[in-house]
Amino acid sequence: MPEAAFTTCPYCGVGCGVEVTREADGWKVRGDDAHPANLGRLCSKGAALGETLSPDGRLLYPEIGGQRVNWDTALDAVADGFRQVIEKHGPQAVAFYVSGQLLTEDYYVANKLMKGFIGSANIDTNSRLCMSSAVAAYKRAFGTDTVPVCYEDLEQADLVVFAGSNAAWAHPVLYQRVAAAKRKRPHMKIAVIDPRRTATSDIADWHVALKPGSDAVLLDGLLVHLADAGKLDETFIAAHTEGFDAALDAARAAAPTLDAVAAACELDPHLLAGFYAAFTDTEKVVTLWSQGLNQSSSGVDKGNAVINLHLATGRIGRPGMGPFSITGQPNAMGGREVGGLANQLAAHMDFAPADVDRVRRFWNAPRIAAAPGLKAVDLFQAVTSGAVKAVWIVATNPAFSLPEADAVRAGLAGCELVVVSDCVRDTDTVREAHIWLPALGWGEKGGTVTNSERCISRVRPFLDPAGEARPDWWMFAEVGRRLGYADAFDFADEAAVFREYADMTNFENDDTRDLRLGPLATLDTAAYADLQPVQWPLADDGTSRARLFADGRFYHPDRRARFVAVTPRPPARAANGADTLVLNTGRLRDQWHSMSRTAKTARLTAHRPEPFVEVHPDDARRLHLADGGLAHLLGADGEMLARVRLDDGQRPGSVFVPMHWSDAHARRARVNALLGTITDPISGQPEFKHAPVVVAPW
Ligand code: SF4
Repeated sequence: MPEAAFTTCPYCGVGCGVEVTREADGWKVRGDDAHPANLGRLCSKGAALGETLSPDGRLLYPEIGGQRVNWDTALDAVADGFRQVIEKHGPQAVAFYVSGQLLTEDYYVANKLMKGFIGSANIDTNSRLCMSSAVAAYKRAFGTDTVPVCYEDLEQADLVVFAGSNAAWAHPVLYQRVAAAKRKRPHMKIAVIDPRRTATSDIADWHVALKPGSDAVLLDGLLVHLADAGKLDETFIAAHTEGFDAALDAARAAAPTLDAVAAACELDPHLLAGFYAAFTDTEKVVTLWSQGLNQSSSGVDKGNAVINLHLATGRIGRPGMGPFSITGQPNAMGGREVGGLANQLAAHMDFAPADVDRVRRFWNAPRIAAAPGLKAVDLFQAVTSGAVKAVWIVATNPAFSLPEADAVRAGLAGCELVVVSDCVRDTDTVREAHIWLPALGWGEKGGTVTNSERCISRVRPFLDPAGEARPDWWMFAEVGRRLGYADAFDFADEAAVFREYADMTNFENDDTRDLRLGPLATLDTAAYADLQPVQWPLADDGTSRARLFADGRFYHPDRRARFVAVTPRPPARAANGADTLVLNTGRLRDQWHSMSRTAKTARLTAHRPEPFVEVHPDDARRLHLADGGLAHLLGADGEMLARVRLDDGQRPGSVFVPMHWSDAHARRARVNALLGTITDPISGQPEFKHAPVVVAPW
């Protein structure tokens, strides 16, 4: 193993490059000065990576029923188990549930096996929980799942709008870049749309602390304001778009005047007028949105309401402007590219007959699935109902992270066959497995990831595998071989997987699809090892594009973008602000997901050491909650215990609980046990930001 490596941070969707070196007192991690995502910066989590490399808590060997076995025995059992279920009940009775933590190569092989050769599209990813609403919004507007902007645009903008994003904690290096740009160019303005006052609002010129769930009214109102102020780009609208009149009519119906918007969103009209005027009068605007919009029962519409604003003003495809959704996970974007979502095929193809046929011929896969599979929440409901009888869960913990987490756990307990491949020996989900497969962890595995600005970066190994851990792509390939598809899964290494995937992006691609990797399809193993960060799409000569749609040509067949008429819908379950409060969930600055890595270092854990609920002091007084006391939270579908933290940045009537604690840390610590399975009807993304909850002293 090398003494140093340039690789990529395994946490958030910013995708920072890191330099890892072995020094006398252990591994040291620094920001990679040459990586375009971070230019040497790291956040607290990235900087502490060197302290998280111990093998403590790792799953080290294959096991069946808790007994150690060798790899052949374990893989034979997986293949036999899936084969038996498929023969008896058909391919729809099996499923894979994968993760934005996987590398693109892992994702590609899993997707190829399930959709191409098992013949079911029942493979979905925990990225469903993170950005699937943004994917659907892009596809409706542009014809493809295409992020049109790049990180530099955030620094070149004169106004950055953070909509439903606490980037200072969830995407810290991007926030650092924006904050540094604002220091350098003081005329640059920042708006934060968030019911809660967060660390991101510290640099905001306007903190638009709207009523939870009223974002679409706010955004529709801005479209009306642009029209009434005569600030539409009529030339762009006429030349490059369809559907503007219907979108404006819907917006007028929902948000006819500024005063009406202020009333519906419970905002000070003067603050709202200031924000609207800044957006209206500033040409270079980036609207960055994240889970606050996506994790909603109308998350797709909210994404389209953002995109509508940029199409209406022609602010897209040029430096310093555009709509920009940020992914939560390190490879949510890579998963989107290779068909990790149950409703997509690889290389951004859909289940349209022509796309299915193209993929079938490329893979030589006559059994290829012809229709979308089950999305994450539906998939686990099918496990619970018994419709799915064998499930392989990879690098994720759905008994912790999905809504109605208790029901998910009960469903897994009753499932015929649960296979888990993971780095970690004890999670809420691993406890329900029949077969355990040890996976390589960060520092051990190699491959690629794609960050939120379409930049592909290498993940490089610098550690020996823990125990008998193996790559995830290899496990899927071995099971594929055992199911009788040896030729299709004859990959020598991850470079071979990447080449095949890159080749697929070029296959019969007549430039009506966005994703092309051009010359990357011919990288030899040495060139793949040295691959430097590069953004797709790539032309055959290797040039890539940092921004898309500068020519006003989109990917719908007529090459015109679509406005979407957005009629705001309230959250599915209301809270009354008295007996029930609005529960909002999210990330902390120093933790990642279920903390399996970040909890290994005391300096990260010290930031917030235990589960808590943030409550406005007025609500605390009314509900007899003491700062530092224990609270009992009761939701529609479960309960949890949490420490009370008083915070006047909370909106009265709302509480915030971080997502990170699971039952592997403490009893009744999973916030997702409180949430119902409310999802967006188009994307299937759960409504994690708005659930009624009763909070009482414990
Ligand atoms: Fe890692 Fe995200 Fe922090 Fe960058 S911002 S160091 S990718 S966690």
